Amino acid sequence: MPIKSPRPTPHFPAIDILSWIFNDKTYTYDREKPLYISVTGPKQQITGNQLLDLTRKVGRGLRELAGVKAGDVVLCASQNHLLYPAAVLGTICAGAIFTGSNPTYTEFELLHQLRDSGAKVIFASAITLPVVLACAAKLNIPKANIFVLDGPRNGVRGIQDLLRNQGQDWQKITDYQKLSSTTAVLLYSSGTTGLSKGCEITHWNLVTHSVSTILILDKVSAEKRHPQKKFPDPIYLAFLPFFHAFGLTYFVMNNARMGRLTYIVEQFTFPTILQAIERHRITDVVMAPPVAVLLAKSPIVKDYNISSLSNILCGAAPLGTELALAVEKVLDSSGAKNVKLHQGWGMSEVTCGGTMFDRGEWDERTGRLSVGHLAAGLEAMIVDDDAREVKQGEPGELWLRGPFVFKGYWRNEKATRNTITPEGWMKTGDIARIDGRGMFYIVERKKELIKVKGFQVAPAELEAALLLNPDVADAAVIGVPRINDGAEEPKAYVVRAQPNVTAASIEAWIADRLSPYKRLTGGVEFVDEIPKSASGKILRRILRERALKSNSRA
Ligand code: AMP
Repeated sequence: MPIKSPRPTPHFPAIDILSWIFNDKTYTYDREKPLYISVTGPKQQITGNQLLDLTRKVGRGLRELAGVKAGDVVLCASQNHLLYPAAVLGTICAGAIFTGSNPTYTEFELLHQLRDSGAKVIFASAITLPVVLACAAKLNIPKANIFVLDGPRNGVRGIQDLLRNQGQDWQKITDYQKLSSTTAVLLYSSGTTGLSKGCEITHWNLVTHSVSTILILDKVSAEKRHPQKKFPDPIYLAFLPFFHAFGLTYFVMNNARMGRLTYIVEQFTFPTILQAIERHRITDVVMAPPVAVLLAKSPIVKDYNISSLSNILCGAAPLGTELALAVEKVLDSSGAKNVKLHQGWGMSEVTCGGTMFDRGEWDERTGRLSVGHLAAGLEAMIVDDDAREVKQGEPGELWLRGPFVFKGYWRNEKATRNTITPEGWMKTGDIARIDGRGMFYIVERKKELIKVKGFQVAPAELEAALLLNPDVADAAVIGVPRINDGAEEPKAYVVRAQPNVTAASIEAWIADRLSPYKRLTGGVEFVDEIPKSASGKILRRILRERALKSNSRA
């Protein structure tokens, strides 16, 4: 029997995401108040009404200046930026599909996303512009279709050029069929196997996910903040990247909908974060585990007043119980009393959050920290390798079904068929178990994916890059736990094509081609052959066992 969310299924309105954010009369806030403020860029801010105006103007500008039509893809290659939300919502206003890429991407990485998505127009930032221009030249994307969020430069127009005319409204959608078939966003994810693919996130996905998470966020805020006092307005710090599901759904979709004041951090450095918390009396932080490590361990934390923090949500990768407790201790001694770290589990393929934010007891079996209850509106199954449901409390692969499970992979029917069953179950590739109270625990990962600092590292991408090296005859990449803290690191097994090749040259090959977080920090091991099945599939399990053995010998 599928596991139902213990949370009552809310009413999911049949409206498009822009109407949900800007026009839904059931939720109002003062739209003349600042909504987004930049902390590290020039001191600028945007109100709720200005965001609406920018959305309409970008929408019209994209249609008129860049010839964007319904269903076209617009890619944004930028770090977080005050105008990033306008680029997202303006793209959707034009009837187009938004996709964000990691601003650290090299030409090799960005070319893949541009080719795969077929993006016709690109938003860049001053930082990403050189890589964007190099890719655009290779793909024959004209300079006239590139817009820089920081303003015009190098003969490329700025986003401001799109804002010259009066804005135009978006096409309203009120029909369920159309809402659930019209893609608004492509979130890039490698899923359970292979290279990164565009998860088609529809209007229906975005709205239902937003309804479901806002319900929980409001509950967590109200309960956990100051139970006896009036609930103060939360102030968010947005350093999670907007190109990823976590940053996009929280800060662009939910916070614009709720009118929650959000300080946007463009360049992440830990001192910038601490300084911003102190200066702006930040109450709410949403983060991935590496920031929890810094909070728990960095000696500079005590130099800042972070006592305003009252609500911290963590996700994107496993949060260790000891780490969560260590952070809570640091917060307690810094004056932010009784703050609990709430963990959620999510995946681009479920728009973002799938289980969230009830701080349960630890799992009595494994000591793991719970990732909370199933989000309202979702159903789950925990199954064995033969797709049979396991006994209550036993671990198995987590399958999910519900309104914010993605539509499928962009132009990739095969991957979609392998991920979503005909009955609508989405295979997460994560091994989970559920306790008697309906709390979920993520036990391990079945899929190939490696997560470094909360970012996806697809072994298939590193393998493809390694195979381009003439010194490499064959290669396989797996994630191995770092010895001191268990964080995942990519490790390569390589079959030499010539005897003199060194581990350092292989590491440098990857470092030259891919983003810094994809480096082979787990090392390079030379082997005679890569274990493969009869059909040629890499047997990663054998490599994982091998890594475990050599780790225990170390
Ligand atoms: P992404 O699509 O980039 O958000 O990556 C999704 C994957 O990140 C999930 O399938 C998990 O493997 C991992 N993940 C996300 N949140 C957690 C968590 N709280 N605990 C363990 N793994 C997580």
